Amino acid sequence: MSEVHEVVIVGSGPAGYTAAIYAARAQLSPILYEGSVTAGGALMNTTDVENFPGFPEGVMGPDLMDSLRKQCERFGTKLVTDDIVSMDLSGEIKVLTDGSGNTLKAKSVILATGSAYKEIGLVNEKRLSGRGVSWCATCDGFFFREKVLAVVGGGDSAMEEANFLTRFATKVYVIHRRDSLRASKIMVERANANPKIEFIWNTEVIDVLGDDKVSGLKLRNLVTGEESDKDFDGLFVAIGHLPRSELLVGQIDLDGEGYVKVDGRSTRTNQAGVFACGDLVDHTYRQAITAAGSGCQAALDAERFLAGH
Ligand code: NAP
Repeated sequence: MSEVHEVVIVGSGPAGYTAAIYAARAQLSPILYEGSVTAGGALMNTTDVENFPGFPEGVMGPDLMDSLRKQCERFGTKLVTDDIVSMDLSGEIKVLTDGSGNTLKAKSVILATGSAYKEIGLVNEKRLSGRGVSWCATCDGFFFREKVLAVVGGGDSAMEEANFLTRFATKVYVIHRRDSLRASKIMVERANANPKIEFIWNTEVIDVLGDDKVSGLKLRNLVTGEESDKDFDGLFVAIGHLPRSELLVGQIDLDGEGYVKVDGRSTRTNQAGVFACGDLVDHTYRQAITAAGSGCQAALDAERFLAGH
């Protein structure tokens, strides 16, 4: 407790690991809290990452994170596989407590806690979670061999999940609330070319049916208002993410959607010595490469802050 660290990094996606690589190379001896169950962040639940520069053949999400992790360690980052459960970011010395009850002091903190899956918000979605309702095709797709599945959403995640699930399922219906997709062109083309994928347009899921496992969905057509029940063996929800900023409420300025506010193009929050990067601040781009870039910025901002103090 008496030691005051230069920098503690909270979160281990591309943003957190990149911040650690830069901070470690700047000889700030960073400590990085990876999370007890979420180490590596969202890319741990992804298959092929085809758009991270430097990998012409693509790279598997977990392999990419493993490489970033090793790169952090190579320069002396101390990795802790635990969560930060509370923080006091107000003073000149920041105080953080981890899930094992250890308390740390730091002159600067880099927040890189990323985002969590968004839920539709239905009571039966939660009740049947793990019993046919999932947010992760790469984690759970295997359990749906020869089944008929629904994917909700119209973004890149929904296209990726739907395509992946056709490895197992006989049919995958993508249910989208509008009549056009938000996903990138290449992902849409891939989904359109997949004979196992069919789209249900202008439709929302209003209930998840089933006693102890998913048996179907209650749908509402948003143009006609017509409601109908349709049989499905599983539901994959891919409707985006919410920033993981619960611990920061009342500590630093957040915007109306819970993203951390930063000063202009920097990673500086309204608390001196506290920096934020990755999906935690990013409404717009939310790519592995942009998260990594902002992790680099956060480390450089922290380094400059420490040099000035
Ligand atoms: P997203 O782009 O925000 O798309 C979310 C989708 O879910 C939208 O189509 C949205 O509908 C729909 N939606 C949101 N809330 C809903 C609700 N309550 N009920 C029903 N539908 C709802 O999120 P994402 O697909 O997770 O992608 C996030 C970011 O990661 C994007 O920048 C994406 O490019 C990136 N990403 C990239 C890859 C890749 O390149 N391989 C893979 C995955 C994700 P509307 O369209 O009507 O708003």
